[in-house]
Formats: sequence, C-alpha cells, structure tokens
Amino acid sequence: MEYSVKFDYQDISQACVKCAKCIPTCTIHIANGDEATSPRGFLDLIGAYDRGELELDKNTKKIFESCFLCTNCVEVCPNDLPVDRMIENVRNDLREKFGLAWYKKLFFFLLRHRKIMDFMSKLGYVFQTCGFKIKEAGMKPRFSFPLIKKNRLLPSAMKKSFLNSHPEIIENGGKQKVGIFIGCMANYSYTSIGESLLDIFKELQIDAHLMKAQLCCSAPAYFTGDFKTTEYLAKYNIEYLEKQTKDLDAVIIPEATCSAMIKVDYPHFFEQNPEWKARAENINKKIFMATEWLHANTEIKSILEQKGKSSDIVTYHDPCHARKMQGIYQEPRDLISQNYVMKNMSNSNACCGFGGVTTQVENHEYAKVVGKIKADMIEETNADVVSAECSACRMQINDSMDRAELKTKFRNPIELIAKALKS
Ligand code: SF4
Ligand code: SF4
Repeated sequence: MEYSVKFDYQDISQACVKCAKCIPTCTIHIANGDEATSPRGFLDLIGAYDRGELELDKNTKKIFESCFLCTNCVEVCPNDLPVDRMIENVRNDLREKFGLAWYKKLFFFLLRHRKIMDFMSKLGYVFQTCGFKIKEAGMKPRFSFPLIKKNRLLPSAMKKSFLNSHPEIIENGGKQKVGIFIGCMANYSYTSIGESLLDIFKELQIDAHLMKAQLCCSAPAYFTGDFKTTEYLAKYNIEYLEKQTKDLDAVIIPEATCSAMIKVDYPHFFEQNPEWKARAENINKKIFMATEWLHANTEIKSILEQKGKSSDIVTYHDPCHARKMQGIYQEPRDLISQNYVMKNMSNSNACCGFGGVTTQVENHEYAKVVGKIKADMIEETNADVVSAECSACRMQINDSMDRAELKTKFRNPIELIAKALKS
C-alpha cells in the first residue's frame, strides 16, 4: 500500500541487542510478564514473521494486539527502535488477513460520518438511562452487554455535542483568531473541555473558530491497524486544516492523542508518500496542544497570577502522547500550579492503561491491571483532582479510580484554568 510505511522488519528486528532496558518500562510486560509480550519479544516475532517462519494466526494476533502503544520502549531503547510503529504495521497486516471485528467496522464507519455519529450520540443520550447508571464521571452498565462487562465506568453521551452547541465563529474582540480541533471524546462526552476553552478565549479576547467540518483525527483506527480508515480521515483533515489555517493564527487541540496523531503520526503514516507527508508537515506549523499554545502565545499566565489560589490538591498525569511524543509536560503544570496546590504522583509518566479500542474491549483485563497501578499512585497523593490533557486517559483513569473507590475527580487542565479564571 502506498501509504503504509515499509519498515525493514528484518533489519529492525536484528538491531535489537536484547539489552532488556525496555522490559521494566513496558506496560504490557508489567500486566502480562511473558517474554512474548515484551518489546524484544515482539521484535523477535516480527523477524520470524518476516522470514516466513511464523504465520499470523489467532494466537499471534492476540499477542500483537496486546501492546499498549505507550512508546515507553522507544524512549529507553539505545538503538531507537520504533517498536510501536512496527506493531501498528503488523496490525494492518492482521487486518488485511482477518478483517475487522463487526464493532470496529461500525465504530470506524461512524468516525468517518459525522452526521450519523451525531444522530447515534443523541440516540445514546436518550436511551442511556435504560441500560446504564449515570454518575458524575460517566455511566456504568446495569447489566453485562456482549462487549462491555457490568461495573465498568464509561463516558456518558451528552444531549448535544460541543460542535452542535455553538455557532461556527464566536467573536470575542479579535485579538487573535484561533481554531479548535476538539477531538471526538470531548465533542460527544467530555463537552465541558470545549466550553472551558470558550471561556478562556472570551477572557483573552480571542475569536474562536469551531471548524465544524473536522472529522476524527483517525487515532482509534490507526492504532487498530485500519490503515484504510486512517488514510481517508488523515487526507480529509489535512485538506480541511490547510484551508482553515490560511486565515487562522493557530489551531489548538485540548487532547494529547489527537494532537500527536496529527502532528507526529500523519507524517509517519505518509512516509512513503512525499506529497502528503509534506502537506502534513506543513499544517503542523500552526497546530498546537491547547496548554502548549496558551502558555507560549497569550497573557494567560499573568492573568492567572492575579486570581485566587484554591486549596484543592491537583496531581498531573502525563499522557504518553503528550510527554513522550510531543515533549509537552511543563506547560500544563506551569498553568495549573498558579491556582492549585500541585502534588506529584510517584510516576506521572507511567501509562494509564488505556491502550486503544482492542484493549478497552477485548483485553480489558490488562487495562484493569495497569489502571490499578495508576489509581494507587493517585491515592497516595491524596489529590482532590487528577488532571491530564487527554480524554482517553480520562476514560481509563475514571474507570480505574471508580474500581478503587477513590473520590478524586478528573479534570482536563483547560477546565482547571477556566475555573481559576472565575475565582
Ligand atoms: S509500546 Fe509500550 S506496551 Fe508496547 S511494547 Fe513498547 S513499552 Fe511495551
Ligand atoms: S531496549 Fe531496544 S535494543 Fe534493548 S531489548 Fe529493548 S528493543 Fe531491544
């Protein structure tokens, strides 16, 4: 396929010197202490697959689908081996061989069709109370469903999506013109993130452009190995962002995964396609994670300095797609610490255990093991709030905290900043 990166599986597999530096950091190895489900184990299997010594069957499918794509191994590997990207490519080979499960086909279809997704979300809102118990942090199934077991906390649907709740352009004085790429979870479930961004823009007299024709960044499909959907969504968003960014000072994204997908993974994905790679790199100049841009381009810090300090203790979790993939970790901390008491957790860089669609549906046992470790870290801090600029982390951490019966609330840093502005 023209859009798939043609890794030399053999070369990369053989470049692993078996130093084991990656093993203690590997999220799946922590959950399932088996050499096969470790970075060097994956590389060995990929080498054997490339030599024709290993057939992709149901068992190897399960192994390759177990990786959390947390990139911890990439960060520590002395040879910079792209284990995560190799696995993404093998998952695409698996998708070509076995096809996709029906629920993934349906989900990725909805991600490509915004209007139908809007309708399904509304339907979900109307009927969610029949099958789910609604809580502040989400909803819990009353019974076990085919794909979802009872007693796990999921994001609940909102009456109206964020994008459908406002006009396309909100004028606030025109100091700057900034687009919002909201991300699907903040659009349909955690809508207070977008509302908080609008409050911040109002305070800063920045015009908000909602860019309502945006589609999913494609991260769920990419991490599942559905490169066809990834190609469709990536090309669509690149074209759309090219047009939008012409008249905008910036586009900001309050979501680490969507931001990393667009800024880092689009150029990776189009490695073999120079035209689209260049176009992806070109739009990057105007795209930022929300705290990154607010920190560098506005007077938000000095405004927050004049606001009151809450006694609420906040601990910050570093999303894998923010710190490791984009180097963003100081900016949200700088902004939150103005108005809240910050307390570090023992390992803010440890993956929360979200893992992606397959992990959340088919390998949830692994997500629970990793999530318990994160919940314990949060509990040790006695924090009132755990924050991370990522709604995938929010979904996973909320579920883990619910299981551990913690009272700690989850807030995106954008929500904390907007709240502080009102103090
Ligand atoms: S990406 Fe994360 S879970 Fe996957 S092999 Fe690397 S460290 Fe392990
Ligand atoms: S750190 Fe890199 S070279 Fe060392 S065992 Fe892991 S993948 Fe292989």
